[in-house]
Amino acid sequence: MGNCIFCKIAKGEIPSASLYEDEEFQVILDAAPASRGHTLLLTKQHFANLYDMPDDLIQKAMLLVKKVAVAMKAELKCDGLNIVQNNEPAAGQTVFHFHVHLIPRYENDDVGLTWKPGELTEETSNEMVAKLQSIL
Ligand code: AMP
Ligand code: ZN
Repeated sequence: MGNCIFCKIAKGEIPSASLYEDEEFQVILDAAPASRGHTLLLTKQHFANLYDMPDDLIQKAMLLVKKVAVAMKAELKCDGLNIVQNNEPAAGQTVFHFHVHLIPRYENDDVGLTWKPGELTEETSNEMVAKLQSIL
């Protein structure tokens, strides 16, 4: 993964504002933050996205996300916090190395993480249940 920017950060080949690291993860400040304190959790090993992640690692990642979230809430006094994890370009992924965004939220900030609520029709509901329920 010679050209992957997060592999380079994980190996210390390019600098980052690192908040935490262990054998499997690094937690850094996002270089282009959506809000004050916007943080990224990344794996040290290269996985393109969530689909590729081993189960034990995703469990550990979620525990670490919680630890960072609680620390951010206590220290930054944010009013809320979004956890965002993008997979594939259509979902906004731009760095193809698994990472989780922790985005502190402040009353009346201008972080745009909203969508227009749609309508769940009976037809779509039936289709989704038929397709997904049996394989989950
Ligand atoms: P995503 O769109 O989910 O792939 O998010 C990639 C994130 O990585 C963006 O929020 C970028 O600002 C951030 N980013 C890209 N390069 C760096 C870097 N060298 N150091 C810290 N954050 C970075
Ligand atoms: Zn990588």
